[in-house]
Amino acid sequence: MLRIDVITIFPGLFEAFGRESILGIAQRRGCVKLRLHDLRDWTTDRHRSVDEAPYGGGPGMVMRPEPLVAAIEAVAGPKGPGRTARVVLLSPQGGRLDQARADALAREEHLVLICGRYEGIDQRVIELAVDEELSIGDYVLSGGEVAAMVVIEAVTRLVPGVLGNPESAATESFATGLLEGPHYTRPSEFRGRKVPEVLRSGDHAAIRGWREARARELTARRRPELLSEAAGEEER
Ligand code: SAM
Repeated sequence: MLRIDVITIFPGLFEAFGRESILGIAQRRGCVKLRLHDLRDWTTDRHRSVDEAPYGGGPGMVMRPEPLVAAIEAVAGPKGPGRTARVVLLSPQGGRLDQARADALAREEHLVLICGRYEGIDQRVIELAVDEELSIGDYVLSGGEVAAMVVIEAVTRLVPGVLGNPESAATESFATGLLEGPHYTRPSEFRGRKVPEVLRSGDHAAIRGWREARARELTARRRPELLSEAAGEEER
């Protein structure tokens, strides 16, 4: 079972997300447990404020360190060798999320995801309480919540027992080092376009060969660098 705690000022954004679809099923099956924490619960002032103006001036506000560190330590324990949770800050300055990183995170027993807002969080929170900064791509979102959902979705589908058929994750794009090729379903002919004959042949070896060839072709056309990375892996 993978435990995921999210610290955010907008826990409501995650409610339907955690209840519906694969994550909802994963929680009902006991493979994943998602818990949401409102950062404002760790504030001590009357206004429950989580942000302050930046030292040195400049636009926007910065998330204050006291409520964030208190929240992280309450949920994950203090940073250090005894901590079993991995505390991940969503940040455009972090390492880029990819399938290999999602796979590694799916092997953790407890993830704590921190959602930034405003201009970001006080640097001392990162030094004192965060294990890893993770970006979902080279663009800037208004907050870490959607990025946290991307991480949760990419990671939870790799937790054993979450997908009905574990083969689906194993054959998907990036898991094999290639993009996955095209899919077809009924009807066998649609607006004059026929499903490739081999997929209807029942010849499993031929179908596997056809799929591998399409995956290579598509990867060579759209993401040729993946083929050279895969070749490099094989040589090592
Ligand atoms: N001032 C920051 C900068 O220039 O790098 C951007 C802050 S952004 C407006 C507010 C929050 O959104 C960040 O603290 C982070 O939690 C989240 N965020 C924005 N873009 C992200 C991305 N590409 N990946 C992960 N989190 C992101």
